[in-house]
Amino acid sequence: MKIAIMGAMPEEVEPILKKLDSYKTTEFAKNRYYEGKYKGVDVVVAYSKIGKVFSALTATTLIEHFGCEMLLFSGVAGAINEKLSIGDLIVATKLSQHDLDITIFGHPYGFVPEGSVYVEADKNLIELSKKVAKDLGVEVLEGIIATGDQFIADEEKKEFIKNTFKADAIEMEGASVAVVCDALKVPFFILRSISDAADMDAGFNFEEFVESSAKISADFLMKMVDELAGKNL
Ligand code: SAH
Repeated sequence: MKIAIMGAMPEEVEPILKKLDSYKTTEFAKNRYYEGKYKGVDVVVAYSKIGKVFSALTATTLIEHFGCEMLLFSGVAGAINEKLSIGDLIVATKLSQHDLDITIFGHPYGFVPEGSVYVEADKNLIELSKKVAKDLGVEVLEGIIATGDQFIADEEKKEFIKNTFKADAIEMEGASVAVVCDALKVPFFILRSISDAADMDAGFNFEEFVESSAKISADFLMKMVDELAGKNL
C-alpha cells in the first residue's frame, strides 16, 4: 500500500520529510513530490500550496499520478470550538466548503447539485487515531472542519461558519481534499493542530505558532503511519 502524506505549506511537511529514511524528489504539475520509505512503507509526501484549488490538484496527483491508495493530511487550523487551544489536535469527522454559496437557488450553504454539504472521513482511520491518542496520552477532539479560500480572522465570519456548519475548526484545504478522495474512493484522514482562534489576533498567533503546531500535527500523524506500517497493509 502506498500512502500519500500531504500538507499545504512547507512548515507542515518538513517535520515529516525529516523522518523518512530517504526520498527522491520529482517535479510534476508545478509542484514537488517526495517519494520515499518510512518503516518499510511506500509514501509520497507533498505540500500543495494554500487553498482549495492547489490542494485538490495535489490530492488528485498523489492518487492518479503516483498511485497512492490512502491519503493522510497534516496541518494547522484556526479554532472555532472553545475547547480547542493553540497546539491542540482535531481530527475531522466530516468536512464542508464554507465559501460555496448558491443559496439564491434555494440550496443550503456548502452545497452544489450532485455534491453534498459534508464529506465524511474514513472511519477506520479515525478509529486508529483514537488508539494512537490513547497510547500517547493526548487528547484529540473529533469534529467538523470547514474549509474555504479565506484566512479567517474575524469574529463575525467565524460565528457564521460556526452556526451554519456546526464547525469546530477552520482551514483552507481539508474539504477540497475530501471531495477528491471521496470521488476517487481513496480513504482519507484530515488532522490539524490549532495555530490560532480565527479571531482578531489570528494573523499574529498564526505567525507565532504555525511551526510548533505543524510539528505537533506531523508527529501525531507519523505515529499513525507507525501503526499502519505494523499492520503490513
Ligand atoms: N503564512 C502564509 C499564509 C497562511 S494561510 C503566508 O504568508 O504565505 C493559513 C494556512 O493555515 C492555510 O493553509 C490554512 O489551512 C491554515 N489556517 C490556519 N488558521 C486559519 C484560519 N484562521 N483561517 C483559515 N485557514 C487557517
